[in-house]
Amino acid sequence: MPIREYSAVDSKKSCKACKEGFEQVEQMDSPSITVCPECGNKVERQFSAPSVGPSDSGLHDRAKNAGFTTYKKSSKGEYEKKY
Ligand SMILES: [Zn+2]
Repeated sequence: MPIREYSAVDSKKSCKACKEGFEQVEQMDSPSITVCPECGNKVERQFSAPSVGPSDSGLHDRAKNAGFTTYKKSSKGEYEKKY
């Protein structure tokens, strides 16, 4: 699940949580929140660079965990089952 970062739009109208910024774990398809769940004042989403490793390192694991069967191409030009 993605973690989204929010912080107060107006630091004068904020609580301790949103003044400094807070992280919110949300469903992938849920809309971003617009108000602080603590104080109800307006917050905006922060787009900080996510710390991800080499781009496709987790791809096969993700596919595997999701129940997909992945195939690798053999030297003979045929596909053989890898998992
Ligand atoms: Zn707040």
